[in-house]
Amino acid sequence: MARIVLKFGGTSVGDIERIRNVARKVEAEVRAGHQVAVVVSAMAGVTNQLVSYCREISPLHDAREYDAVVSSGENVTSGLLALALQEIGIPARSWHGWQIPIRTDGVHAKARIVEIDTTELDRRLSSGEVAVIAGFQGISPQGRIATLGRGGSDTSAVALAAALDADRCDIYTDVDGVYTTDPRIVAKARKLSRITYEEMLEMASLGAKVLQTRSVEMAMKHRVRVQVLSSFEQAPGSALPGTLVVDEDEIVEQELVSGIAYSRDEAKITLIGVADRPGVAAHIFGPLADAAVNVDMIVQNVSEDGTATDLTFTVTKSDLDRAKQVLELAREDLGYRRMTTDPNVVKVSVIGVGMRSHAGVAQRMFAALAEKGINIQVISTSEIKVSVLIAEEYTELALRALHTAYGLDAA
Ligand code: ADP
Ligand code: ASP
Ligand code: MG
Repeated sequence: MARIVLKFGGTSVGDIERIRNVARKVEAEVRAGHQVAVVVSAMAGVTNQLVSYCREISPLHDAREYDAVVSSGENVTSGLLALALQEIGIPARSWHGWQIPIRTDGVHAKARIVEIDTTELDRRLSSGEVAVIAGFQGISPQGRIATLGRGGSDTSAVALAAALDADRCDIYTDVDGVYTTDPRIVAKARKLSRITYEEMLEMASLGAKVLQTRSVEMAMKHRVRVQVLSSFEQAPGSALPGTLVVDEDEIVEQELVSGIAYSRDEAKITLIGVADRPGVAAHIFGPLADAAVNVDMIVQNVSEDGTATDLTFTVTKSDLDRAKQVLELAREDLGYRRMTTDPNVVKVSVIGVGMRSHAGVAQRMFAALAEKGINIQVISTSEIKVSVLIAEEYTELALRALHTAYGLDAA
């Protein structure tokens, strides 16, 4: 007998028939003798709809009320799945975040889980009752509902698996595992049977939304056995050929590059004619940090005459307007000549722990892009990834070219 946490994303609970399908999967685990906690997302499209209602009624909405609204989609699914389970004779009870409680910090709309009290869940699971938990939500120190950021149900599931000391955490979604790149864009993407925590963390934070970044951080920290698999392709109770997220030493054959991710959530800002003297960068990025704008990639051009230079950097698209405002207000103080911005960019990254021990990975990337005539605007690297910023219109072309260049194409 094992204790397991299963998580079902929006498409997997997209309509009543799909919720019944989920109930049958849960039933199979219960009949196998396991204790089961299930985390559910809102039905497909519901969270987007709720977010747009908030924006429509109040463009600069109060984050606490935003959370009150957008958390509601998960409440509906948790109740519906509990009912579907009861209908097939499985004892089940739904749980909202505050009822457990799942305690978070007070950063509404992107809260972090700080503690989960498992006393009652433990008791119920041990008695054979299935717990159906609304994902994406918890309760803030002020006693209000807080949500965990988009895609946050993954984090709810991994955090519960850690707190409940579960044997595994299965993330059911609309693809049957983690692929070398987004299979919806590159038809030749290959499913990975295993990926390391570290690579998965980079993939997620660089744009692969198959798992929320924080869920991977948490899995890595608490060594939760996470598996990504499809809720559509396997019969209930059958063997599960998804992707396992594991420690590096569990990988038998390590590829040089294991995955390619992309993020359209970037916007480029260039300051032209910035004084080329010590302290200028601190001067520019200070006010942005004060305005809670995250700066990602940065490049400073060499100055031709030693007095003025150009500085290019990226921020998330949703921060672009705020960043522009901050920089315009500080223009005289900062002393740049002109500012240009471009939201039509994409960050493409190649990721692999194999890079630590092999040279030439970046060079292969630059050559493959050059061959397709794709201009690289900004570059950034770390120990296990290389990222480039390119024009958004080349996203698919670049992903396909790189996928082939690193020998990742499926046969
Ligand atoms: P859910 O609603 O189940 O949480 P998401 O839409 O959040 O599902 O995540 C699954 C999606 O992630 C897939 O449909 C796929 O398009 C996308 N995706 C991006 N990169 C990858 C990747 N490397 N492997 C698998 N899926 C990926
Ligand atoms: N429903 C939330 C979202 O769409 C949380 C999730 O699905 O993980 O972001
Ligand atoms: Mg998701």
